[in-house]
This record gives sequence, C-alpha cells and structure tokens, in this order.
Amino acid sequence: MTPNPFEDAKKFISEAADTLKIEPWIKEVLLTTHRELHVNFPVEMDDGSVRNFVGYRVQHNHMRGPFKGGIRYHWQVNLDEIRALAAWMTIKCAVVDIPFGGAKGGVVCNPKDLSEKELERMTKGFIQRIGPLIGPAIDIPAPDVYTNAKIMQWMVEEYNRCSRRTELAIVTGKPLDKGGSEGREEATAKGGFFVLEKILQEDYAPGLGKLPNKIVAVQGMGNVGGTLAKFIYETGGKVIAVSDSQGAIVNHKGLDIPKVMKHKEHNGSVLDFPGAMNITNEELLELPCDILVPSALEDVIHRQNAERIKAKMILEMANGPVTAEASVILKKKGVVIIPDILANAGGVTVSYFEWLQNLKKEHWTKIEVNSKLRDIMYKSISAVLQTARKFNTDLQKASYLIAVKRIAEKARSELHESHCYTAYF
Ligand code: NAD
Repeated sequence: MTPNPFEDAKKFISEAADTLKIEPWIKEVLLTTHRELHVNFPVEMDDGSVRNFVGYRVQHNHMRGPFKGGIRYHWQVNLDEIRALAAWMTIKCAVVDIPFGGAKGGVVCNPKDLSEKELERMTKGFIQRIGPLIGPAIDIPAPDVYTNAKIMQWMVEEYNRCSRRTELAIVTGKPLDKGGSEGREEATAKGGFFVLEKILQEDYAPGLGKLPNKIVAVQGMGNVGGTLAKFIYETGGKVIAVSDSQGAIVNHKGLDIPKVMKHKEHNGSVLDFPGAMNITNEELLELPCDILVPSALEDVIHRQNAERIKAKMILEMANGPVTAEASVILKKKGVVIIPDILANAGGVTVSYFEWLQNLKKEHWTKIEVNSKLRDIMYKSISAVLQTARKFNTDLQKASYLIAVKRIAEKARSELHESHCYTAYF
C-alpha cells in the first residue's frame, strides 16, 4: 500500500493528544483541516496554446496565529501530501513556539518544462485563485520545493495588483531588495545545522561524537540539502554522497561540496561528477554512514527499505521523509531520528522574522537574524530533550507532545474568552 503522509501526521498527533489526555474537541480539530481550496486554472503557453493547471491551498490550523506554509511546484503534488505538509506546519510552528498556524500549497507541474514567462504566468494565475484566502494576518505563503525568491516576488506583485494594496508581509522568502530577510535563503539549513550540532554536543546519540569526520549522506541538493551539505563540509564532516532528482553520486573518500555545487550549476545535475560514482537515490539512502540527511521529498524511507538503512542517525530536513511504519523499524534498530518538525523549523522561524520586519518596517542584520535563530533553535532543542527524558520517549514523540500541549493551551484560552472558538476569516 502506498504510504499516506496525512495519515502518518494524524497518527503522531493522535498519540500525543492521547498521552496528554487532551479534550476530544481539540484532538478532533487537529485531526482535520480547517479549510481546503482546490483550484483549476488556465495558463497561456509561449506557443499560444492554453494549458490547465491544478493547485491546492490547505489551511490546517490557526489557533496559535495566522496560517503559514510554503508553496510547492512538483509533478507529484497531491491533496493528501499538501494536507500532511499543512499539519506539519502547525506542529512545527508550535515546537519552536512562533505565533503561526499551519498551511501548505502546491501546483501539479514540472517547473523544468516551463519557460520563465510560463512559470510567471502560472504563478500569477495560482495567486489570483488563492488570493481571497491569503493575507498578512490570515495566511502567508513561502517557498518550498522548486519555488524560490523570484517566484515569491511574482506572488507579491500579483496579490498587490489584484487587491490594490502594497503589502510586503503577504509572502515570505522574498528577494532581499524586495522586503526579504537577511539569512532567509539559508535559514532552514542553518537551523538544521544548529540542531545537529547541539544534539551531538549533548551526546544524545552515545558513541557518535562531534561533527568533524562524521560520514554523511545527503539526499536532495537543493536549497536545504545543498546548503546543509556545504555547512557540514565546512565544519569538517565527510559528505560522501549527495543527490538530485536525476540520481546520486558517491565517493567514500568524501566529496568537495563547493565543487559539486559548481558542477551541478554547469551540468544541471550532480551526476558524472569527476572522481565519484553514479548511483541511484535509493542506493544513497542505504549507504553505510553516520548521519543520513534526507532533504528532498516525503516517504523516501518506508517499510520496504527501512531494514536496509545503515545510518546511525537520520536528520529529517525534508518534511516527512520517514514513514510512521519505517520509524518504528528504525527505532528498534537503534537509529536516532531527529524529526522534521524540529530539524527544518529554521526556515519558518526566519520567515517569521521576515514577516515581523515587514510589519514593523525594519531591516535586521544577518548577525541579528542568525543569533535570534540560534536562540530559538537551541531553546526548542532543550525543551524537546527535556520532554523526551520526562516521558521516556524519543525526539519525534517529544516534539509532538510539546506542540500539541501548546496548541491545546491556546485553544482553551480562546474558547474561554469568546465562548466558541473563533475563526476570523
Ligand atoms: P529545492 O527545490 O530547493 O530542492 C529540492 C531537491 O530535491 C532538489 O535537489 C531536487 O533535485 C531534489 N528532488 C526533487 N525530486 C526528487 C526525487 N524524486 N528524488 C530525489 N530528489 C529529488 O527544495 P528545498 O526548499 O530544498 O526543499 C527540500 C525539502 O525541504 C522539502 O521536503 C521541503 O518541504 C523541505 N523544507 C524546505 C524549507 C525551505 O525553507 N525551503 C523549509 C522546511 C522544509
């Protein structure tokens, strides 16, 4: 049976709610989505033909603040994936204690098959459809797989054109000269790096030691995976394998990551990097290594390959790369999983900083941004480690426990203030 990421997200939420004996009405709210928008829209192609695209915006929960979550362009986008990604955003924002709820969006497409003009028209068509449901105090999109700062800028332009406003805080992940934040591009990787460093320092995975010389394999050489591979390489970690959608490369002596990045820039893929061997993405996941960093898509480690995973630690930089079934198998094998809802929360944290800077009309320096990010990530890791010890559980369950507790507290206080839980929009 194909894994369903939304069922996995619900399973973890449900377990946490039961452990905490949360009221059934709060649990039920968290196990459903607040609102789902399914859109179908025509776009004119460069040759004059017209193609219809399907897209989604799912708003999972806004009890702790406006909905927040990225927009993904990928040929595998589907509603259950977007629902899961939206739910994980709600949980993630609560783990790092930032005042946002969770949402996610996506368009079913292969952006590599579209010209820049077609991509712009498609982006603007999508924003016209989801425009009525977004806004700086309602729902704030951001980048995700195959979307970037330029695409965010097109979204801002179209939202403002249609609504006759001049909002910057409508989208995060914008270019620096268009209201973006210093440090946003690398924030997710930087947050993941802080988490990894701290967990190794705390000796949470006994015997693994510190980062230098650790053997690391990274799946997905995009914004998140590529940047994190570079940080690990610069700190003396030995990155032996990396990949992209076309395949993977391995060199057991270690890869020169800046050179691999240049090679990918020139050739469109990491494949055929001099001195390395081409392998598949599946083979990369099964390489013997200390730390495996899945940084592409969800469900890549599942029931069928979990037994063959040889890494001692998995740092989940992608959202949902390990299915619930696989996580049981891995934990039995003693593999430490650093969960996505903690590991990749640096991105939404700096998105929050960008939103705040836009609203206050401020511009923070990179040093300020990175120091605030480090504080939030370290505080969150300490809370997760403490909860893991208190409940004698793993980091994944501990993170869900913290998040569900925080959301439930907010839900109760809102209810008492207004006698019913209010949805603003
Ligand atoms: P990206 O588009 O920059 O990079 C994605 C990478 O995955 C690319 O190298 C691509 O070639 C590779 N890829 C695509 N399809 C693949 C496949 N079928 N098999 C193997 N590799 C494949 O995206 P990103 O922003 O780096 O996001 C990567 C992951 O991190 C996603 O799961 C995303 O949800 C998660 N994430 C991103 C952010 C962010 O700020 N960008 C924040 C939190 C989580």
